[in-house]
Amino acid sequence: MAGYDVIIVGNGPAGLSAALYTSRANLKTLVIGKDQGALAKAERIENYFGMAEPVSGCELVENTKQQAKSLGAALVTDEIFHISWNQGFVLEGREGTYQAVSVLLATGSSRKKADIKGLAELEGRGVSYCAICDAFFFRGRKVAVLGNEEYAVHELGQLLPVAGSAVLLTNGKELLASAPEGVPVITKKITSVNGEEEVAGVTFEDGSSLELDGLFVALGSAGAVDLARKIGALTDGRSIQTDENMATNVPGLYAAGDCTGGLLQISTAVGEGAKAAMSMIKFVRQQKKG
Ligand SMILES: Cc1cc2nc3c(=O)[nH]c(=O)nc-3n(C[C@H](O)[C@H](O)[C@H](O)COP(=O)(O)OP(=O)(O)OC[C@H]3O[C@@H](n4cnc5c(N)ncnc54)[C@H](O)[C@@H]3O)c2cc1C
Repeated sequence: MAGYDVIIVGNGPAGLSAALYTSRANLKTLVIGKDQGALAKAERIENYFGMAEPVSGCELVENTKQQAKSLGAALVTDEIFHISWNQGFVLEGREGTYQAVSVLLATGSSRKKADIKGLAELEGRGVSYCAICDAFFFRGRKVAVLGNEEYAVHELGQLLPVAGSAVLLTNGKELLASAPEGVPVITKKITSVNGEEEVAGVTFEDGSSLELDGLFVALGSAGAVDLARKIGALTDGRSIQTDENMATNVPGLYAAGDCTGGLLQISTAVGEGAKAAMSMIKFVRQQKKG
Protein backbone atom coordinates (compact mmCIF):
# COMPACT_ATOMS: atom_id res chain seq x y z
CA MET A 1 0.00 0.00 0.00
CA ALA A 2 1.33 3.43 -0.93
CA GLY A 3 1.52 6.08 1.73
CA TYR A 4 3.36 6.53 4.99
CA ASP A 5 4.85 4.25 7.61
CA VAL A 6 3.39 6.48 10.28
CA ILE A 7 0.68 9.10 10.29
CA ILE A 8 0.32 11.27 13.36
CA VAL A 9 -2.98 13.11 13.72
CA GLY A 10 -2.26 16.18 15.83
CA ASN A 11 0.63 18.60 15.76
CA GLY A 12 0.73 19.46 19.44
CA PRO A 13 3.44 18.32 21.89
CA ALA A 14 2.37 14.64 21.81
CA GLY A 15 2.23 14.34 18.03
CA LEU A 16 5.39 16.33 17.35
CA SER A 17 7.35 14.51 20.04
CA ALA A 18 6.39 11.20 18.40
CA ALA A 19 7.43 12.54 14.99
CA LEU A 20 10.95 13.31 16.27
CA TYR A 21 11.43 9.66 17.19
CA THR A 22 9.78 8.03 14.16
CA SER A 23 11.64 10.30 11.73
CA ARG A 24 14.98 9.59 13.40
CA ALA A 25 14.15 5.87 13.13
CA ASN A 26 13.90 6.43 9.38
CA LEU A 27 10.16 5.83 9.18
CA LYS A 28 8.28 7.80 6.55
CA THR A 29 6.31 10.10 8.84
CA LEU A 30 3.43 12.50 8.19
CA VAL A 31 2.05 14.85 10.85
CA ILE A 32 -1.44 16.22 10.19
CA GLY A 33 -2.78 19.10 12.26
CA LYS A 34 -5.67 21.45 11.81
CA ASP A 35 -4.43 24.31 14.00
CA GLN A 36 -2.17 25.08 16.97
CA GLY A 37 -4.26 23.12 19.50
CA ALA A 38 -4.38 23.84 23.23
CA LEU A 39 -1.05 25.67 23.25
CA ALA A 40 -2.29 28.48 20.98
CA LYS A 41 -3.82 30.07 24.09
CA ALA A 42 -0.86 29.47 26.41
CA GLU A 43 1.06 32.73 26.55
CA ARG A 44 3.63 31.89 29.24
CA ILE A 45 4.88 28.40 29.85
CA GLU A 46 7.14 28.32 32.88
CA ASN A 47 7.03 24.68 33.90
CA TYR A 48 8.54 22.91 30.93
CA PHE A 49 11.97 21.32 31.18
CA GLY A 50 14.93 23.40 30.00
CA MET A 51 13.22 26.79 29.74
CA ALA A 52 15.14 29.35 31.80
CA GLU A 53 12.76 32.03 30.54
CA PRO A 54 8.99 31.57 29.98
CA VAL A 55 8.12 30.61 26.43
CA SER A 56 4.79 30.95 24.62
CA GLY A 57 2.90 27.88 23.49
CA CYS A 58 3.02 29.02 19.87
CA GLU A 59 6.81 29.42 20.03
CA LEU A 60 7.27 25.99 21.56
CA VAL A 61 5.11 24.33 18.89
CA GLU A 62 6.67 26.27 16.01
CA ASN A 63 10.21 25.37 17.17
CA THR A 64 9.30 21.70 17.41
CA LYS A 65 7.66 21.77 13.97
CA GLN A 66 10.93 23.04 12.53
CA GLN A 67 12.83 20.37 14.47
CA ALA A 68 10.54 17.60 13.13
CA LYS A 69 10.83 18.93 9.56
CA SER A 70 14.60 19.09 9.76
CA LEU A 71 14.61 15.44 10.84
CA GLY A 72 12.59 14.47 7.78
CA ALA A 73 8.94 14.46 8.91
CA ALA A 74 6.34 15.86 6.52
CA LEU A 75 3.82 18.26 8.05
CA VAL A 76 0.49 19.21 6.53
CA THR A 77 -2.44 21.34 7.63
CA ASP A 78 -5.66 19.38 7.33
CA GLU A 79 -8.59 18.28 9.44
CA ILE A 80 -9.21 14.55 9.65
CA PHE A 81 -12.85 13.46 9.64
CA HIS A 82 -12.67 9.69 9.39
CA ILE A 83 -10.35 6.75 9.91
CA SER A 84 -10.84 3.20 8.66
CA TRP A 85 -8.79 0.14 7.79
CA ASN A 86 -8.26 -1.35 4.34
CA GLN A 87 -4.99 -3.29 4.27
CA GLY A 88 -3.60 -0.37 6.25
CA PHE A 89 -5.08 2.72 7.86
CA VAL A 90 -7.02 5.13 5.63
CA LEU A 91 -7.59 8.66 6.91
CA GLU A 92 -10.01 11.04 5.24
CA GLY A 93 -9.46 14.75 5.63
CA ARG A 94 -10.86 17.97 4.26
CA GLU A 95 -7.94 18.21 1.81
CA GLY A 96 -7.34 14.58 0.92
CA THR A 97 -7.02 10.91 1.84
CA TYR A 98 -3.92 9.48 3.51
CA GLN A 99 -2.70 5.93 4.09
CA ALA A 100 -0.32 4.49 6.65
CA VAL A 101 0.87 1.29 8.29
CA SER A 102 0.46 2.76 11.77
CA VAL A 103 -1.44 5.75 13.17
CA LEU A 104 -1.05 7.87 16.29
CA LEU A 105 -4.06 9.81 17.54
CA ALA A 106 -2.72 12.89 19.33
CA THR A 107 -5.57 15.33 18.87
CA GLY A 108 -5.63 16.75 22.39
CA SER A 109 -8.56 16.79 24.75
CA SER A 110 -11.98 17.47 23.40
CA ARG A 111 -13.75 20.12 25.40
CA LYS A 112 -16.87 20.11 23.25
CA LYS A 113 -19.93 18.25 24.38
CA ALA A 114 -23.65 18.58 23.99
CA ASP A 115 -25.41 18.28 27.28
CA ILE A 116 -28.81 17.43 25.82
CA LYS A 117 -31.31 15.34 27.78
CA GLY A 118 -31.67 11.87 26.26
CA LEU A 119 -28.60 12.06 24.01
CA ALA A 120 -26.32 9.76 26.02
CA GLU A 121 -29.16 7.38 26.90
CA LEU A 122 -30.05 6.79 23.22
CA GLU A 123 -26.46 6.23 22.04
CA GLY A 124 -26.44 3.15 19.81
CA ARG A 125 -30.25 3.31 19.57
CA GLY A 126 -30.50 5.99 16.91
CA VAL A 127 -27.78 8.30 18.26
CA SER A 128 -24.59 7.65 16.30
CA TYR A 129 -21.10 9.15 16.19
CA CYS A 130 -20.11 7.79 12.77
CA ALA A 131 -22.02 8.45 9.55
CA ILE A 132 -19.84 6.18 7.39
CA CYS A 133 -20.27 3.32 9.87
CA ASP A 134 -24.01 3.65 10.49
CA ALA A 135 -25.58 5.40 7.45
CA PHE A 136 -26.64 2.00 6.07
CA PHE A 137 -28.98 1.44 9.04
CA PHE A 138 -30.87 4.60 8.11
CA ARG A 139 -31.61 3.84 4.46
CA GLY A 140 -34.64 5.86 3.39
CA ARG A 141 -35.17 7.19 6.92
CA LYS A 142 -35.23 10.66 8.51
CA VAL A 143 -31.92 11.68 10.02
CA ALA A 144 -30.26 14.78 11.42
CA VAL A 145 -26.66 15.77 12.02
CA LEU A 146 -25.85 17.73 15.17
CA GLY A 147 -22.98 20.18 14.61
CA ASN A 148 -22.06 23.49 13.03
CA GLU A 149 -18.64 23.05 11.41
CA GLU A 150 -16.99 21.26 8.45
CA TYR A 151 -17.05 17.94 10.28
CA ALA A 152 -20.88 18.05 10.47
CA VAL A 153 -21.05 18.86 6.75
CA HIS A 154 -18.75 15.90 6.03
CA GLU A 155 -21.06 13.58 8.00
CA LEU A 156 -24.07 14.95 6.07
CA GLY A 157 -22.24 14.14 2.84
CA GLN A 158 -22.06 10.50 3.92
CA LEU A 159 -25.75 10.36 4.86
CA LEU A 160 -27.38 12.17 1.95
CA PRO A 161 -27.02 9.40 -0.67
CA VAL A 162 -28.52 6.84 1.71
CA ALA A 163 -31.03 8.50 4.05
CA GLY A 164 -34.55 9.48 3.03
CA SER A 165 -34.02 13.01 4.32
CA ALA A 166 -31.41 14.86 6.34
CA VAL A 167 -31.42 18.03 8.42
CA LEU A 168 -28.57 19.95 10.06
CA LEU A 169 -29.16 20.94 13.69
CA THR A 170 -26.74 23.53 15.11
CA ASN A 171 -28.23 23.60 18.62
CA GLY A 172 -28.14 27.36 18.99
CA LYS A 173 -24.72 27.80 17.38
CA GLU A 174 -23.87 29.82 14.30
CA LEU A 175 -23.24 27.66 11.24
CA LEU A 176 -19.51 27.98 10.42
CA ALA A 177 -19.58 25.93 7.19
CA SER A 178 -21.80 25.74 4.12
CA ALA A 179 -24.56 23.18 4.36
CA PRO A 180 -25.02 21.01 1.25
CA GLU A 181 -27.58 22.41 -1.15
CA GLY A 182 -31.15 21.57 -0.24
CA VAL A 183 -30.39 20.52 3.34
CA PRO A 184 -32.53 22.41 5.86
CA VAL A 185 -30.58 24.02 8.71
CA ILE A 186 -32.29 24.46 12.08
CA THR A 187 -30.34 26.69 14.46
CA LYS A 188 -32.72 26.49 17.44
CA LYS A 189 -31.43 25.13 20.75
CA ILE A 190 -32.41 21.54 21.44
CA THR A 191 -33.79 20.69 24.88
CA SER A 192 -34.18 16.92 24.50
CA VAL A 193 -33.64 13.92 22.28
CA ASN A 194 -36.82 11.89 22.53
CA GLY A 195 -37.57 8.19 22.26
CA GLU A 196 -38.21 5.18 24.49
CA GLU A 197 -36.40 2.30 22.80
CA GLU A 198 -35.00 4.29 19.86
CA VAL A 199 -34.65 7.91 18.75
CA ALA A 200 -38.05 9.32 17.80
CA GLY A 201 -37.12 12.99 17.44
CA VAL A 202 -35.93 16.13 19.17
CA THR A 203 -37.67 18.96 21.01
CA PHE A 204 -36.45 22.54 20.67
CA GLU A 205 -36.32 25.33 23.25
CA ASP A 206 -39.42 26.98 21.74
CA GLY A 207 -41.45 23.79 22.39
CA SER A 208 -41.58 22.67 18.76
CA SER A 209 -40.47 19.14 17.80
CA LEU A 210 -38.94 17.35 14.85
CA GLU A 211 -39.53 13.66 14.17
CA LEU A 212 -36.36 11.70 13.45
CA ASP A 213 -35.16 8.12 13.15
CA GLY A 214 -31.50 8.91 13.68
CA LEU A 215 -29.27 11.63 15.10
CA PHE A 216 -25.58 11.80 14.12
CA VAL A 217 -23.40 13.78 16.50
CA ALA A 218 -20.57 15.72 14.80
CA LEU A 219 -19.73 18.61 17.12
CA GLY A 220 -16.75 20.86 16.43
CA SER A 221 -14.07 18.90 14.63
CA ALA A 222 -13.59 15.16 14.94
CA GLY A 223 -11.76 14.69 18.22
CA ALA A 224 -9.69 11.73 19.24
CA VAL A 225 -12.63 9.94 20.82
CA ASP A 226 -14.76 10.44 17.68
CA LEU A 227 -11.95 9.08 15.49
CA ALA A 228 -11.32 6.19 17.89
CA ARG A 229 -14.98 5.24 17.87
CA LYS A 230 -14.99 5.12 14.06
CA ILE A 231 -12.38 2.40 13.99
CA GLY A 232 -13.49 0.50 17.06
CA ALA A 233 -10.87 1.69 19.55
CA LEU A 234 -12.01 1.62 23.17
CA THR A 235 -12.75 4.89 24.94
CA ASP A 236 -14.34 5.83 28.23
CA GLY A 237 -16.39 8.47 26.40
CA ARG A 238 -13.85 11.25 27.08
CA SER A 239 -10.41 9.64 26.62
CA ILE A 240 -8.93 6.88 24.52
CA GLN A 241 -7.96 3.75 26.42
CA THR A 242 -4.35 2.64 25.93
CA ASP A 243 -1.98 0.18 27.53
CA GLU A 244 1.39 1.15 29.05
CA ASN A 245 2.90 1.31 25.52
CA MET A 246 0.20 3.77 24.34
CA ALA A 247 -1.37 1.02 22.19
CA THR A 248 -5.14 0.96 21.72
CA ASN A 249 -7.03 -2.30 21.26
CA VAL A 250 -6.74 -1.83 17.45
CA PRO A 251 -3.39 -3.26 16.22
CA GLY A 252 -1.21 -0.45 14.82
CA LEU A 253 -3.30 2.34 16.34
CA TYR A 254 -1.79 4.34 19.23
CA ALA A 255 -2.84 7.39 21.23
CA ALA A 256 -0.88 9.93 23.25
CA GLY A 257 -1.22 13.24 25.06
CA ASP A 258 -4.31 14.95 26.42
CA CYS A 259 -6.58 12.58 24.46
CA THR A 260 -5.61 9.72 26.78
CA GLY A 261 -6.67 11.67 29.90
CA GLY A 262 -4.60 11.88 33.09
CA LEU A 263 -2.29 14.84 33.72
CA LEU A 264 -3.02 17.33 30.93
CA GLN A 265 0.45 18.87 30.67
CA ILE A 266 3.09 19.34 27.98
CA SER A 267 5.58 17.11 29.79
CA THR A 268 3.09 14.21 29.90
CA ALA A 269 2.15 14.70 26.23
CA VAL A 270 5.80 14.76 25.15
CA GLY A 271 6.56 11.63 27.19
CA GLU A 272 3.57 9.72 25.88
CA GLY A 273 4.40 10.79 22.33
CA ALA A 274 7.89 9.35 22.70
CA LYS A 275 6.55 6.11 24.17
CA ALA A 276 3.96 5.78 21.39
CA ALA A 277 6.67 6.38 18.79
CA MET A 278 8.79 3.54 20.16
CA SER A 279 5.78 1.22 19.92
CA MET A 280 5.01 2.37 16.37
CA ILE A 281 8.62 1.86 15.27
CA LYS A 282 8.46 -1.72 16.54
CA PHE A 283 5.05 -2.31 14.91
CA VAL A 284 6.04 -0.92 11.49
CA ARG A 285 9.32 -2.87 11.43
CA GLN A 286 7.44 -6.08 12.26
CA GLN A 287 4.91 -5.41 9.47
CA LYS A 288 7.68 -4.77 6.97
CA LYS A 289 9.44 -8.01 7.90
CA GLY A 290 6.14 -9.67 6.97
C1 LIG B 1 -4.57 28.16 28.07
C2 LIG B 1 -3.75 26.94 28.34
C3 LIG B 1 -2.54 27.06 29.02
C4 LIG B 1 -1.74 25.94 29.28
N1 LIG B 1 -0.56 26.10 29.93
C5 LIG B 1 0.24 25.03 30.17
C6 LIG B 1 1.49 25.19 30.83
O1 LIG B 1 1.89 26.28 31.22
N2 LIG B 1 2.25 24.07 31.01
C7 LIG B 1 1.85 22.83 30.59
O2 LIG B 1 2.60 21.86 30.77
N3 LIG B 1 0.66 22.66 29.97
C8 LIG B 1 -0.16 23.73 29.75
N4 LIG B 1 -1.37 23.56 29.11
C9 LIG B 1 -1.79 22.18 28.71
C10 LIG B 1 -1.09 21.80 27.41
O3 LIG B 1 -1.36 22.78 26.44
C11 LIG B 1 -1.58 20.43 26.94
O4 LIG B 1 -1.44 19.48 27.97
C12 LIG B 1 -0.79 19.97 25.71
O5 LIG B 1 -0.84 20.94 24.69
C13 LIG B 1 -1.33 18.64 25.21
O6 LIG B 1 -0.68 18.29 24.05
P1 LIG B 1 -1.40 17.35 22.95
O7 LIG B 1 -0.38 17.19 21.87
O8 LIG B 1 -1.93 16.16 23.61
O9 LIG B 1 -2.65 18.18 22.44
P2 LIG B 1 -2.77 19.62 21.77
O10 LIG B 1 -1.66 20.50 22.16
O11 LIG B 1 -4.15 20.09 22.05
O12 LIG B 1 -2.63 19.32 20.22
C14 LIG B 1 -3.64 18.64 19.55
C15 LIG B 1 -3.46 18.82 18.06
O13 LIG B 1 -4.43 18.04 17.37
C16 LIG B 1 -4.91 18.77 16.25
N5 LIG B 1 -6.23 18.22 15.89
C17 LIG B 1 -7.32 18.07 16.68
N6 LIG B 1 -8.32 17.46 16.00
C18 LIG B 1 -7.83 17.23 14.75
C19 LIG B 1 -8.38 16.65 13.57
N7 LIG B 1 -9.63 16.15 13.53
N8 LIG B 1 -7.61 16.60 12.46
C20 LIG B 1 -6.33 17.09 12.47
N9 LIG B 1 -5.76 17.65 13.56
C21 LIG B 1 -6.51 17.71 14.68
C22 LIG B 1 -4.91 20.22 16.69
O14 LIG B 1 -4.76 21.02 15.57
C23 LIG B 1 -3.65 20.25 17.55
O15 LIG B 1 -2.54 20.51 16.77
C24 LIG B 1 -2.18 24.66 28.85
C25 LIG B 1 -3.39 24.53 28.16
C26 LIG B 1 -4.18 25.64 27.91
C27 LIG B 1 -5.49 25.48 27.16
